[in-house]
Amino acid sequence: MVAILLGPPGAGKGTQARRLEEDLDIPQISTGDILRDHVARGTDLGKQAKQYMDRGELVPDQLIIDLIADRIDQDDAAAGFLLDGFPRTIPQAVALDGLLRAREVPLRAVVLLDVDDEVLVRRISGRYLCRECGEDVNTGGEEPPEACPKCGGELYQRDDDRPETVRKRLEVYREQTAPLVDYYEGESLLRRVDGSGEVDEVTRRIKVAIKG
Ligand code: AMP
Repeated sequence: MVAILLGPPGAGKGTQARRLEEDLDIPQISTGDILRDHVARGTDLGKQAKQYMDRGELVPDQLIIDLIADRIDQDDAAAGFLLDGFPRTIPQAVALDGLLRAREVPLRAVVLLDVDDEVLVRRISGRYLCRECGEDVNTGGEEPPEACPKCGGELYQRDDDRPETVRKRLEVYREQTAPLVDYYEGESLLRRVDGSGEVDEVTRRIKVAIKG
């Protein structure tokens, strides 16, 4: 089964995708995580991508499409996958349609996580990630705990979670990614889910939206 989690930065796509991974028994594929891994390893792709990421802009479509084409052909993705942060532009969505068609895998649902701007900015500015297990810890504006509550790993804040970059990322979302809502609504694949409130409750809503 293939599903997409769509929504602005801070909507909870990563947190929810990691939780759903186990439940649906398909891997989460996050282009943001893959790119951050390339940046950390200093690969050529990482060096190219970093310039865009640091500015809050999108990495060029073709780099991302090649990366996804490669990733979905790995063994763990054979039974399906949950996309988080891809597609983010119309050309990416068109390319994904082609990749899925060639592999004869249907797209089951596109879940749009709806969250107010005010909540997005608050969530992003209080967001810390664990270097070891990737856990997303939200402090709600308070100081972060000394270590990851799940595994004890070191916590860090993403470079692109600074307020000025966040504003740019929200603008990029509205201009380049929001048009995907109409694109998928046209194909009757879009399911709107309220992304505010308790994490568990949002997970439950997404499961209903995907399976129902
Ligand atoms: P994310 O972790 O999904 O918020 O992504 C972090 C950054 O990685 C974005 O601000 C973009 O610079 C880049 N990125 C991630 N996914 C994509 C994508 N599908 N297309 C273009 N750039 C992307």
